[in-house]
Amino acid sequence: MSTEYEPVIGLEIHVQLATRTKMFCGCDLSFGDPPNTHTCPVCLGLPGTLPVLNARAVHFGVLIGLALGSQIAERSLFHRKNYFYPDLPKGYQISQYDVPLCSGGSLGEVCIHRVHLEEDAAKLVHVGESGRIHGSDRSVVDFNRGGTPLVEIVTEPDLHAPDQAREWLTLLRATLKRLGVSDVNMDEGSLRCDANVSVRPVGSQQLGTKTELKNMNSFRYLERGVRAEIERQIGLLQSGEAVAQETLHFDPASDRLTPLRSKEEAHDYRYFPEPDLVPLVVTGEMHAAAQADLAELPAARAKRFEQQLGLAPDRARELAFRTELGDYYERALAADGHDPVTVANWIPQLVERIGSDADPAQSKVTPEALATLAGMVSAKEVARDAARDVLTRLVAEGGDPRTIVEERGLGSLTADDGGLTEIIDRAIAADPAAAEQVRQGNMRAVGPLVGFVMKETKGRADGGEVTRLIRERVG
Ligand code: ADP
Ligand code: ZN
Ligand code: MG
Repeated sequence: MSTEYEPVIGLEIHVQLATRTKMFCGCDLSFGDPPNTHTCPVCLGLPGTLPVLNARAVHFGVLIGLALGSQIAERSLFHRKNYFYPDLPKGYQISQYDVPLCSGGSLGEVCIHRVHLEEDAAKLVHVGESGRIHGSDRSVVDFNRGGTPLVEIVTEPDLHAPDQAREWLTLLRATLKRLGVSDVNMDEGSLRCDANVSVRPVGSQQLGTKTELKNMNSFRYLERGVRAEIERQIGLLQSGEAVAQETLHFDPASDRLTPLRSKEEAHDYRYFPEPDLVPLVVTGEMHAAAQADLAELPAARAKRFEQQLGLAPDRARELAFRTELGDYYERALAADGHDPVTVANWIPQLVERIGSDADPAQSKVTPEALATLAGMVSAKEVARDAARDVLTRLVAEGGDPRTIVEERGLGSLTADDGGLTEIIDRAIAADPAAAEQVRQGNMRAVGPLVGFVMKETKGRADGGEVTRLIRERVG
């Protein structure tokens, strides 16, 4: 019998903080500005310069720690992490080592190991002979990014499936966004994720040898890369081979994983205390200031949507884990006290029409309009199919759903409308066999009759109402 394996995954996430200036100097943060336009002697690592810690970055670090329920160290230390690379002009990165700003905590089902502050390296750009990026004949350095404030969040190895890792990173991203501490834009590198992966026989308490997948910088790649690596490791173990502890690069084009470096080649960073910075002391005042900035976080919001508004757990998460959707939803609810579940069900319809990454607040559909439309459907003033058309029109042109329904004659056809009963009679006449079955109580036969009516009314009739009327009329 073949052994079953359980995947074990831990994530390390780097978050660029949305401060105005860099971690240890007064240079502006910039993304997309011309290269090397935001530099100074400090972030270029020139001799004789001294770092000055960015208070806002500390505030954000404490805020993240509080949001994750971490222990905030009253006194934490900065260290120098030494390595030689062209993106690091000082020859070391200032980071935190044995005494980080935050320890412990959790988010959802995942425990947090630690959260610490550090600075980002500069950006290496590989340039081909043609001057085009890629093709890498030479590399050039853009120091704009060097010294950007980072928070590194390290989880415990508490994740056990690729899609779970993806979902959890979505929650973390939403949480950071809600806190306002980062742009959390994975394309632009303000949120970067490394995944540590191992497998072990189901039931075993011991951790297997892990590999580290570097820079899984989209939710999709994270899920796919981790899945491919789990399969690779299980394949190795099943054929009697061992997993080597190494760092891997995932190529999304081929789904292949290639080694970047092995354990033997791992850096020895020769950490030592940063002599130019005093220990970081978080005062009661700083703690209180962060506490005051804590907003309702996505996990709590999802719970509230579920428990107080009655949304299904999936829908609650869908709305709460994307702050802009949750905000839009709550504005729609405030506009019109309709059934929260019905209004919630219309948000995905809207998202489908505006594009999955778009912010509905930027669309032509106001929350009030969406709430009105949902209410009209609930009140059976407009049938669901017709309402979908109205929404499509709202996305294109904006406006008021009531006006659109009136102007275009999309209002529901009901029993009072002679037109509807006439169409139902035609449906019955067109398919007497189905009508007879319905008469005998076989409700499955009603489908084609309802379909006929829907087609004739162009979706303006309510399905339930049509079914009721057909039963009535077949006698
Ligand atoms: P390293 O010393 O290699 O940096 P750490 O113990 O600091 O390893 O852990 C780094 C990350 O790897 C953490 O997110 C942790 O949860 C995860 N991790 C550690 N051991 C394993 C393992 N055996 N399988 C999967 N993830 C692991
Ligand atoms: Zn600078
Ligand atoms: Mg580590």
